[in-house]
Amino acid sequence: MSNKELDQLRQRVDELNLELLSLINERARLVQEIGRVKETQGVFRYDPVRERKMLDLIKENNDGPFENSTIEHIFKEIFKAGLELQKDDHRKALLVSRKKKPDNTVIDLKGEKIGDGNPHFVFGPCAVESYEQVATVAESVKAKGLKLLRGGAYKPRTSPYDFQGLGLEGLKILKRIADEYDLAVISEITNPADIETAVQYIDVIQIGARNMQNFDLLKAAGAVNKPVLLKRGLAATIEEFINAAEYIMAHGNGQIILCERGIRTYERATRNTLDISAVPILKQETHLPVFVDVTHSTGRRDLLLPAAKAALAIGADGVMAEVHPDPAVALSDSAQQMDLKQFDEFYREIKKSVLARV
Ligand code: PEP
Ligand code: MN
Repeated sequence: MSNKELDQLRQRVDELNLELLSLINERARLVQEIGRVKETQGVFRYDPVRERKMLDLIKENNDGPFENSTIEHIFKEIFKAGLELQKDDHRKALLVSRKKKPDNTVIDLKGEKIGDGNPHFVFGPCAVESYEQVATVAESVKAKGLKLLRGGAYKPRTSPYDFQGLGLEGLKILKRIADEYDLAVISEITNPADIETAVQYIDVIQIGARNMQNFDLLKAAGAVNKPVLLKRGLAATIEEFINAAEYIMAHGNGQIILCERGIRTYERATRNTLDISAVPILKQETHLPVFVDVTHSTGRRDLLLPAAKAALAIGADGVMAEVHPDPAVALSDSAQQMDLKQFDEFYREIKKSVLARV
């Protein structure tokens, strides 16, 4: 073969490479379009039946010189790349992501604008135990000019023999207090079936750490028009946390506050390990407000104040901490709730540090 002939063949190979390139990319664009259709239909998954059909058709039409196994291998790679492309498209476009929405989400809770760049505070008992108990804390919250009150009515307890909360009765107490003191109340809901009822009594639905991946609960919270405070799971990665929020938003509810509450590590000096760097990561990756629960993350009264300062310094939109009129006799988390005097002191100090920041 002459050099000229070789050059011609090589030129033809180059042309075919470019043709393949353009065909592969044309195919990729179609796959992306299919991905978008699937997304609007709410389905988004690998379809092995469809893939098998495509491979069979290709092999039926293969007249060599490549073996069927080689052809199958090459096309499987093309299919895989297409699937990755669909996934990437989807990931890039997470509804909770800053990529999707660059502006901060701001949530209005009775005039308190969560996510507006100012620090916000949620205080209240671990569990609603009685009207008087919650009212005592509400008074102290109100006296500080604060607006947000917490209290658990459904308590997910480690032991089935521990106090499980007052249930609906607890929500009714919270509603009465919210009306009397003009506060916004936050309470954890553990059962999807309770969401519809709960929205009549509370201002924010809390989804607790143990339920961060209770997908039915996330979907139910996504289906109502009520802000949700979503806590990070006990051992959830940031990606899992973000995806849990995505569940709520994908079902129609974008009013979500993320709450870092410590994760389980080998460290036993604190109840959990406060993952403080999660705060700026969540702020960067999502447009949602981020809170830090200093009570459940540290489990230690002596660490509440430094942890709260750290949270605000690193960019948290708010801090949550538990306050009980008489923690020694609290029905849950008695070791870590502040009494009213400690609460006053805590708030005085945190205010000083916030003022120092501005
Ligand atoms: C709570 O805030 O009452 C609570 C139970 O917290 P977590 O879900 O973070 O453990
Ligand atoms: Mn608690």
